[in-house]
Amino acid sequence: MGIESSCDETAVAVVRRDDAGTHVLSSVIHSQVMQHKAYGGVVPEIAARSHVETIDDLARQALEDAGHPPLDLVAATSGPGLIGGVMVGLSFAKGFALARGLPLIGINHLEGHALSARLTEDVAFPFLLLLISGGHCQLLSVKGVGDYERLGTTIDDAAGEAFDKIAKVLGLGYPGGPALEACAKTGDAARFTLPRALLGRKDCDFSFSGLKTAAAMIAYEHVKTEQDRADLCAGVQAAIARQLVERSERAMKLFREQTDVADPAFVVAGGVAANQALRTALTAIAQKHGFTLKAPPLKYCTDNAAMIALAGLEHYQKLGKGALPDTASGMSTIARPRWPLDEVSAANAPIHK
Ligand code: ATP
Ligand code: MG
Ligand code: FE
Repeated sequence: MGIESSCDETAVAVVRRDDAGTHVLSSVIHSQVMQHKAYGGVVPEIAARSHVETIDDLARQALEDAGHPPLDLVAATSGPGLIGGVMVGLSFAKGFALARGLPLIGINHLEGHALSARLTEDVAFPFLLLLISGGHCQLLSVKGVGDYERLGTTIDDAAGEAFDKIAKVLGLGYPGGPALEACAKTGDAARFTLPRALLGRKDCDFSFSGLKTAAAMIAYEHVKTEQDRADLCAGVQAAIARQLVERSERAMKLFREQTDVADPAFVVAGGVAANQALRTALTAIAQKHGFTLKAPPLKYCTDNAAMIALAGLEHYQKLGKGALPDTASGMSTIARPRWPLDEVSAANAPIHK
């Protein structure tokens, strides 16, 4: 059973893997989007309270939907994220594990995203991952379960955050990504000149804050009509896509230098992967560099608990039942507001502390 509560979705899922494959027996999600809408972003205190109010019912529902199967393991997001929310999910998981005498492991939320493509497809290791969500923008070499090398990350905002903040300035509401994409459809991407960040840098890092400022300046000075707004949206979307494409191409070259897999997967995960224009651009460069683009279905791209259950399951299978922490030691799992994914590898999967 997986439990997720690191941001503004409370989620519980049950996942089973057998000889026939990986099965999501249930996956229930309560999104708090409507509760945060009025504030134009996630309010941590409101988020934490909402997790408290909904988690019992969600867990009950997930178990019922799954047909009350016998459980082997409880996996809960133990970071990174909004600490109040993480503590709600993790505390619930501890109570549940204790009551049922089950082992509990804390999962890095990013590891959930990293492995999410394996919920529905047989994606072999190693693969290259572009994780683009509301809070993260990273390129990772996923070498195996618990073995991640970060090739690049954002030095300021995440891609989703850039979409959300620019959409907010343009009065498109929250969450901004889908609204900005819709608005961009009738726009001319070439109308406004937008900055290109970190050009010529040899690494795979990202930066979106300059774009955000430039877009805000243009919005205040030049956006008067619907067409102006559509043109700016199209320009912003193209600029974000261009940077993601450039950095991904560099990462593909690095990945190639590190491994000699013939046809590796290029996995795109996180909510921003829903963007169709971006997907088209990423599919093209994947083809050009001999990678196969794989993106989990949308419901597993954004925050969900099936990916957390899967990450738990993958560790469970890797370690073997005997090596798992027992119920008692699972109780000392700590909630972490910050937890870089490569630390999971560095300490050889410290799945509980
Ligand atoms: P994290 O996983 O980093 O904690 P999160 O939970 O906010 O962050 P997700 O739920 O994976 O992230 O994704 C939400 C983000 O995806 C938001 O920033 C949203 O604007 C963006 N997004 C969703 N759909 C689209 C789209 N069609 N185009 C661009 N961005 C999108
Ligand atoms: Mg979210
Ligand atoms: Fe997420």
